[in-house]
Amino acid sequence: MGYVDHLKSVPELPEKINSKKTRPRLMAVVDEDNCTGCSACVPFCPVDCIETVNSDKYNIPIPPVQVRWNECIGCQICSRVCKKITWDSIRMMPTDVFEKRYNIKID
Ligand code: SF4
Ligand code: SF4
Repeated sequence: MGYVDHLKSVPELPEKINSKKTRPRLMAVVDEDNCTGCSACVPFCPVDCIETVNSDKYNIPIPPVQVRWNECIGCQICSRVCKKITWDSIRMMPTDVFEKRYNIKID
């Protein structure tokens, strides 16, 4: 029991960075108001598409992160990492719902 067991379900860090090949089924959406900006999720993304929000948007010392939508492959790893080792600030959203809600087209 304890800390080690708790980390068992944390995904492995990627060995190499990949890129998107097909349209994803899901999109990772960061709740920027809930994200601590800890960046714990960033190195886990297999396509390296999580970045810190530009400091022009938030005038705070540690801004939240955001996902570059058109690079996300919907793997859910960031969401699991955030939930397991830090907070719970990333929601996975069906890509169709995401496109309608944000009026963004995903390739
Ligand atoms: S792990 Fe969660 S709280 Fe930390 S930067 Fe990523 S989304 Fe934000
Ligand atoms: S779901 Fe998260 S970890 Fe997976 S590709 Fe998208 S942003 Fe990266």
